[in-house]
Amino acid sequence: MTDAVRMSLEEVHAAAKAAMLGQGFAENHASAIANTVTAAERDECRHHGLFRLPFYVNGLRSGQASPDIEPVLTELSPSVIKVDAGYAFSPLALETGDAPLAERAKEFGIAALAVTNALNVAALWPEVERLAVRGLVGFAFVSSSPYVAPAGGMKPLFGTNPMAFAWPRLDNPPMVFDQASSASARGEIQLRLRDGETLPDGWAIDNEGRPTNDPQQALLGAQLPFGGFKGSNIALMVELLAGPLLGDKISFEQAAHDKANTGAPCGGELVIAIDPAKFVAGGDRAAQLRHAETLFSRLLAQDGARLPSGRRYEARRRTTAEGVMVPRSLVASIEAYAAGRQVTERATYEGDHITAGAASA
Ligand code: NDP
Repeated sequence: MTDAVRMSLEEVHAAAKAAMLGQGFAENHASAIANTVTAAERDECRHHGLFRLPFYVNGLRSGQASPDIEPVLTELSPSVIKVDAGYAFSPLALETGDAPLAERAKEFGIAALAVTNALNVAALWPEVERLAVRGLVGFAFVSSSPYVAPAGGMKPLFGTNPMAFAWPRLDNPPMVFDQASSASARGEIQLRLRDGETLPDGWAIDNEGRPTNDPQQALLGAQLPFGGFKGSNIALMVELLAGPLLGDKISFEQAAHDKANTGAPCGGELVIAIDPAKFVAGGDRAAQLRHAETLFSRLLAQDGARLPSGRRYEARRRTTAEGVMVPRSLVASIEAYAAGRQVTERATYEGDHITAGAASA
């Protein structure tokens, strides 16, 4: 990164929080957003780091996101809790539900958190990783803007629909994966359009349903799920788990609701926590986790194979010591946000990636 500024993670957090406060978010929302953005910078998931701040601002300025509503926690059954985010962004609602979810999973063996009415533009691994740090298995599902055609279909219907899974480890940080159910991020298609590149096979179809390698045609047509009908079925499952199961919206309904086209879909997120110790008689969590390690070690013994999250933990070690590089233009935008100013050129929402390039006004 040529024109970039080195920032410590503390500075990233302080800058993100100041930016959110400057734009009118309440202290607790600003903190929660800064937490998830900083975690993404720390783990070099930059698309969900400081680059995301314009989405939080756009959601707020459009009037679609509340800056200050308190999430409301209710118990739907002894092991099912709900946090109504009240049309605010998801990070505070997820933090609110985290400890009660973990407590219930430890008590009952399995528990679920339904986050509803939440605008979501974040990665999902933070909510499952923090469960696994406490010895729990975690799952998270969220649906998003409808860009993806079902296998065999021609029109966008599903969101890019990420799902995350975390497994605790004894002497290592948890094993976590977090992946969309689309073959590619929408942002990757837009980047290739910008750079005059073609798309790999299997990413998209044009608006007549024909396979295309042309990014422009792909954006006018539909993205494809990964892995053909198998990925399509996973996307379908995520729609059901994050929407009708929680009494919240399906992706196509979320798009209709995003009248200002903020690119911050508003809907549900399902988080499930499982205590492994409650799934075997006698409850020997350590033995179960040691058993899992035999799988991990065999996987790691194969040249070229790695565990998901390995890259993030390596990045975390590095950035905790060295900080991160942030484009100077983004730093200028963040400072403008903190001063309460509007940034004229809004970042482009690309489903799960954005292009920044904001200029302060
Ligand atoms: P990637 O394809 O970048 O990575 C998916 C997962 O696979 C990661 O856990 C990654 O681990 C792991 N992985 C990558 N390479 C390997 C490998 N060689 N072997 C084993 N595991 C590997 O993610 P996606 O583009 O699918 O999604 C990116 C993010 O976007 C996710 O965090 C998702 O939650 C988010 N998203 C959010 C949406 C929203 O509406 N909120 C919508 C869509 C996506 P590692 O991190 O260690 O590389």
